[in-house]
Amino acid sequence: MSVLQSICPATLDVVWEGPAADAHEVRSAVARARAAFATWSAESLATRIDAVRRYKDALLANGGRLAEAISRETGKPLWESTQEVASMVAKIDISIQAQADRAGEVERAAAFGRSILRHRPHGVMAVFGPYNFPGHLPNGHIVPALLAGNTIVFKPSEETPLVGQLLAELIASAGFPAGTFNLVQGGRATGVALAEAKIDGLLFTGSAATGAVLRRQFVDRPEVILALELGGNNPLIAWDGERGAVASIIVSSAFMSAGQRCSCARRLIVPEGPLGDSYIEATIALARRLSVGRWDDQPEPSMGPIISERAADGVRSAVENLVGLGGRPLLPLETLDAPSRAFLSPAVIDVTGLDVPDAEIFGPVLQVHRVADFDAAIEVANNTAFGLAAGLVSSDRTLWDRYALRARAGVCNWNRPTTGAAGTMPFGGLGESGNHRPSAYYAADYCAYPVASFEAPAVVDQSGDIRGLR
Ligand code: NAD
Repeated sequence: MSVLQSICPATLDVVWEGPAADAHEVRSAVARARAAFATWSAESLATRIDAVRRYKDALLANGGRLAEAISRETGKPLWESTQEVASMVAKIDISIQAQADRAGEVERAAAFGRSILRHRPHGVMAVFGPYNFPGHLPNGHIVPALLAGNTIVFKPSEETPLVGQLLAELIASAGFPAGTFNLVQGGRATGVALAEAKIDGLLFTGSAATGAVLRRQFVDRPEVILALELGGNNPLIAWDGERGAVASIIVSSAFMSAGQRCSCARRLIVPEGPLGDSYIEATIALARRLSVGRWDDQPEPSMGPIISERAADGVRSAVENLVGLGGRPLLPLETLDAPSRAFLSPAVIDVTGLDVPDAEIFGPVLQVHRVADFDAAIEVANNTAFGLAAGLVSSDRTLWDRYALRARAGVCNWNRPTTGAAGTMPFGGLGESGNHRPSAYYAADYCAYPVASFEAPAVVDQSGDIRGLR
């Protein structure tokens, strides 16, 4: 039996410890979910909605406990974890609405009776969570999937098993039928076993690297619905506007959650010359004012450490690589003097004209590109295999119209941070960022398949419709 531990990235204390599920236990969880599917999928929608609403009540009653667990495992400041729990609560009513909008029943009268569109659940859904939003993002798959009538096997990120356990406890307290929701804890090996098991859907939020493995793995399993919500190398073009206002949008885009949001701006594109210089200077000045601290520090910090010392090593080496390629650190990445090496300061690196990797650096690192004109800005912005989030800062409507037409991203914001997203909208990306199955409001689409039925209430002779009868 292998043991899984989660470690507080701020203090390096062990937060959670327990066994990791092996392949046999994973298969048993899938079998329990399979056995529960017939009953759960046959329940009326009203019954499923009632159960999901009881889960919402449990979330509301336990929000403080859950937020603290998120902070302890991820290092996020408590204010941010509290926002995450609020998003989980809001997800319930949004998902009920989305299901009615996108996966409801539509009936039309026909001469023979009626045509009717219904949606049916797929079966057993495996849900994989990332560590950066360990409650909100799995919740965004789980709630729509349960509402649609699927049963679930959930594997939280190995970095956040406590959050996974609490989420499972709250779902259990809502009184879903036994086997409807199942938790398996573990790391990559448990994930591999779950992906290999007899599942009907795999709802995944995580890195593009794991997403690519899964895409290949499922090529010959077309019967399994695969929804991939992956990373990005997101561009933000800052073109005109008052420098302080421009910098505020850049800093929110790049350094929110210590740069650990899939939608964080990774590449800042500015005009060559004094205007672009002034945006970079203002960005650096504002980024220096961000406080980095422990989740429970008072006054509250802007951002915490990143998820682990190992992840911080990865960010440091990615930055060293950029510098080795000729990148000029304008605001150097620093490791703070703290008990853990996971506390990083925000960094800004000028990589103009360099051939740098098209990769997501999942930390507080912003790469700057200076360009000659707006066409070049769009070209640099689109010069990526990813396509998750993008943004433009400018008061010129014609520039926005041009960018909105040519940007290749599932989220494209104007004078709003790239991290701006809402549960009432779809959220997903193109290219390496996903597989055209956006989540958030559109999660209802991948949680059920449409069935078109043409229904006549009685058996009526239709030989009159058969041409050429002799
Ligand atoms: P990750 O890919 O390392 O892990 C995600 C999950 O997959 C974990 O549960 C992990 O155990 C499991 N896993 C890893 N390898 C596996 C394999 N071969 N087979 C099956 N399961 C496997 O991702 P992470 O580091 O936890 O999360 C951060 C990433 O998630 C970033 O790239 C970020 O951009 C992305 N993300 C995307 C979105 C989105 O909505 N598009 C949202 C948040 C985070």
